[in-house]
Amino acid sequence: MNNPLKVKEIIARGYINPSKLPGADYVINPYVGCPHRCIYCYAEFMKRFSNHDEPWGTFTDVKIRSTSSRPLDLQEKNVFLSSVTDCYNPLEEKYGLTRKLLLQMRQSGAGITILTKSALVLRDMDILAQLPDVTVGFSMNTTDDAFRQDTEPAASSVPERFYALKTLHEKGIRTWVHVSPIFPYLSDWKTLVETAAPFTNRFSFENLKLRAASLPRVLLYITRRHPQWRQTYEQIFRRQDMTYWRGLRKEILAFCNERKLAAAVHFSEKLPVRH
Ligand code: SF4
Repeated sequence: MNNPLKVKEIIARGYINPSKLPGADYVINPYVGCPHRCIYCYAEFMKRFSNHDEPWGTFTDVKIRSTSSRPLDLQEKNVFLSSVTDCYNPLEEKYGLTRKLLLQMRQSGAGITILTKSALVLRDMDILAQLPDVTVGFSMNTTDDAFRQDTEPAASSVPERFYALKTLHEKGIRTWVHVSPIFPYLSDWKTLVETAAPFTNRFSFENLKLRAASLPRVLLYITRRHPQWRQTYEQIFRRQDMTYWRGLRKEILAFCNERKLAAAVHFSEKLPVRH
């Protein structure tokens, strides 16, 4: 996935779409495709709907304009950015679409939730501070930046994400850490939780789920870099053995309860292997 990134400016039908995700009435995805190149990417299935033949991670469409001028009533609605790709991917630095959309929603009365792997969100602290109901979440699954570099090569580093989390928290902006995706035996989630706890209001946890495209890629990575876990990963991901996840769910809840941390575990019982 080291091909140069192909960027295309497109005109979208609209930026905001109704959502069936729990806790979100609407979702906003200003970009199609994502340059972060996570090896396990969950959004790769979107390629089917994007009219692209290139490998996922090598293209991004930028919704520079929308044909819809219809204003939506967002009063007391929950809006989530982004549900499919990262709204603070590196192209946001140039295009500022997420920034513009946040500016437009300042007076909307919407509850806004952002989830990102990027410290670029700090650029918009001036707007975030003006939003009456906003939560900024960071997806993180390790405190080991070498592991992060292997698995999320173009996203912000571990220190950058911790710095962004701490800065937002200190400015009074509600934060959340989404411990995701947990790689069995490789994600040091306990250290991550203890390091982040002073700077966040809550945690959520999600297990690694591998689809047809990401399964061989991740297993190849495990074989090359962590061969001692190859058999275990085969058992969990090819044979769909949920024993590990069931034990981990209990362990996470006990760990967080003991420290009086707000935590929700969202583990899928059935792991998708194709889409
Ligand atoms: S940040 Fe999300 S959408 Fe982007 S590559 Fe990583 S998993 Fe995929």
